[in-house]
Amino acid sequence: MYYVSTRGWSGSVTSAEAIKRGLAPDGGLFVPETIVRLDPEEIASFAEMDYRERAVSILRHYLDDYTEEELRECVDGAYGSGRFDDERIAPVVRLSENAYMLELWHGPTSAFKDMALQILPRLMVRANMKTRESRETVILVATSGDTGKAALEGFRDVEGTRIIVFFPEDGVSQVQKMQMVSQEGSNVHVVAVKGNFDDTQNGVKAIFSDEELNREMLENGFRFSSANSINWGRLVPQIVYYFSAYADMLAAREIAEGEKINIAVPTGNFGNILAAWYAREMGLPINRLICASNDNNVLTEFINTGIYNREREFKKTISPSMDILISSNLERLLFELTGRDAAQVRVWMDELKNEGRYAVIGEEKRKLTEMYWGAYSTEEETVETIREVYDDYGYLADPHTAVGIDVYEKYVISTGDITKTVIAATASPFKFNRSVASAVFGEDEIAGRDEFELLDVLSRHCGLTVPAGLAGLSGRPVLHKRVCSREEMKDQVVQILGLK
Ligand SMILES: *Cc1c(COP(=O)(O)O)cnc(C)c1O
Repeated sequence: MYYVSTRGWSGSVTSAEAIKRGLAPDGGLFVPETIVRLDPEEIASFAEMDYRERAVSILRHYLDDYTEEELRECVDGAYGSGRFDDERIAPVVRLSENAYMLELWHGPTSAFKDMALQILPRLMVRANMKTRESRETVILVATSGDTGKAALEGFRDVEGTRIIVFFPEDGVSQVQKMQMVSQEGSNVHVVAVKGNFDDTQNGVKAIFSDEELNREMLENGFRFSSANSINWGRLVPQIVYYFSAYADMLAAREIAEGEKINIAVPTGNFGNILAAWYAREMGLPINRLICASNDNNVLTEFINTGIYNREREFKKTISPSMDILISSNLERLLFELTGRDAAQVRVWMDELKNEGRYAVIGEEKRKLTEMYWGAYSTEEETVETIREVYDDYGYLADPHTAVGIDVYEKYVISTGDITKTVIAATASPFKFNRSVASAVFGEDEIAGRDEFELLDVLSRHCGLTVPAGLAGLSGRPVLHKRVCSREEMKDQVVQILGLK
């Protein structure tokens, strides 16, 4: 299987090369030359497998330049040996008559980013070997919270790599900050930036494109890489859990073989829901993809009107991992919707960059609305959903997951479609415990308590165990104390790597 660019670059590369590079040379995203189709028997056969076997079965189609043994090692390293607190890895929990929660937060950092970031570093190290890369890989990350910690956990002590994570000093939650500054590992570095997420992200972008620095890196045997969600090595592992959910439902006789389901996903960068689209194209019986947004409802508007318009106020919400105005992975869907018309994709991406908007019309728009249904949940509705879902079903949903549930309920009311639906639960309720506790117990109950105390409050009241990665967090030693301004970020990299 070879990979081509969504913007028409004339070359094609192996999956190892695509994973190593991240972005295509023309700035486009790598997509597989063909989308693999699985026959119904193979899909049904997953019911008898565990998560790791399912993962190898899917990955080997797309990463066919890896040997089966290599894939097995990557999969075992990521999803084996107690790294996830549920041996099913991504368990499906029935919520109501027709709704099922696909819990993607049982990994070490309690958010769904672990599903991909536990395996990506392993795929990357092997990609370096396959492409005879001798330089050490330096992963640079700008994070608004979840990605940074998940990347640190994924890359910690992975041979041949170092990771430097920058986060906005006052732009992440208490739990998220503590998760990062207490990170263990011999190759990990964490730096707080005095500024907001945009400053931090722009700083990292500037470092990536700094020619002088890249030259020094080269001379010292380093190369930069990123772990962000446009890397094919992050997307492809996410396809697995949709097949896995279906297989679990088959095995539990919740659905019949071949029965169609819907998938609802709380969406930010469009990675998670795009993986569901790939699963659908690969033959998984999926009827509708339900795209759930928060108040940053760019995608809702796009799905309903065909107009993608990022020129709007950026809103900080209680589901911060979805506070995104440019959903990068959408580019892959556009490429496929146009029948792989890279010239058209380039026009749209230029319009987005220069004018802040583009419009999809005609056949492409029709296909989009046929497959996707989009709506959003306001802040009030999200809080209300957390409370109702807990009262009605005894299920504790984090704010991101609640956005997904609320939009699913809107979908049912609007369409009358009662197809069984899998809703992606993307974070543990303990990770965003302030919003969750306030929704369930009211503001009075939580007043004056910090997030660490609230972990225990939630645990006691709801009879749930605090995930291991979050329990005892407040008592952990702070191992990373670097703080810098936006302008000093490059110096930090120079110091950390010992350049000059
Ligand atoms: C990253 C994230 C999302 C958004 O996922 P995308 O793949 O960017 O659409 C949703 N919820 C949580 C908790 C996340 O960390």
